[in-house]
Amino acid sequence: MRRTVIAGNWKMNMTPKATRAFITELAPMVAGLDKCDIVLCVPYVDIATAVEAAAGTNIHIGAENVHFEKSGAFTGEISAEMLTEIGTEYVVIGHSERRTYFGETDATVNLRTKAALAAGLKVILCLGEVKEERLSGITNEIVAMQTKLDLAGISAEELKNVIIAYEPVWAIGTGLTATPEQADETCGVIRSVIAELYGAAAAEEITIQYGGSMNDANAAELLSKPNVDGGLIGGASLKTDKFTTIVKAAN
Ligand code: PEP
Repeated sequence: MRRTVIAGNWKMNMTPKATRAFITELAPMVAGLDKCDIVLCVPYVDIATAVEAAAGTNIHIGAENVHFEKSGAFTGEISAEMLTEIGTEYVVIGHSERRTYFGETDATVNLRTKAALAAGLKVILCLGEVKEERLSGITNEIVAMQTKLDLAGISAEELKNVIIAYEPVWAIGTGLTATPEQADETCGVIRSVIAELYGAAAAEEITIQYGGSMNDANAAELLSKPNVDGGLIGGASLKTDKFTTIVKAAN
């Protein structure tokens, strides 16, 4: 049975001090809610503090990006080994904000995914269509293409450490949410592409999250859909009560 994963993406929010306070408050609120995996993906400088604060709890810590080279002249970048050495378990790759503002492409998403998996990180691989693509009726083609390009050369064994986050770009941080039916349908399309690439068993096993203005009010309905195995949550992951409500909905 595939796992439901509720992951927060803090983006460029929270200092180390705020991180410690947040996790200290959140831990007892989500204790024992073990029917889903709980992950907080946090800014690089918060990771060490987050790992320390989350020790002994059911909260796992992730980064928001990773570079694809092991080391070298890449000023400002962070390698997979740097992340694992400080206790990072997950990493978000290919978030639409990286694709839109920082020139991320399917080719670099693929390289980053390979490097992260080789280092033992679990990858939350983000993909999704922009508004014009949805309005043009080409969402299925777009997510199929992204899935194929982003996973090119990744083995079935490696895929076991990949979670796909379907995030329609028009729904991220906008307050616009895909309907539960749209989320279910597109996550289903991604699952069928996984079946095509890796077989039916792998498609059944892979966790596919929905992300895009998921919050405490709409999570239960989105998560009730058969192809939606969790959520990647931005804004609502910055409040312990809202995030806990989403974790409870997943449970
Ligand atoms: C995200 O950052 O991946 C996201 C889905 O953000 P929000 O929940 O704020 O739309």
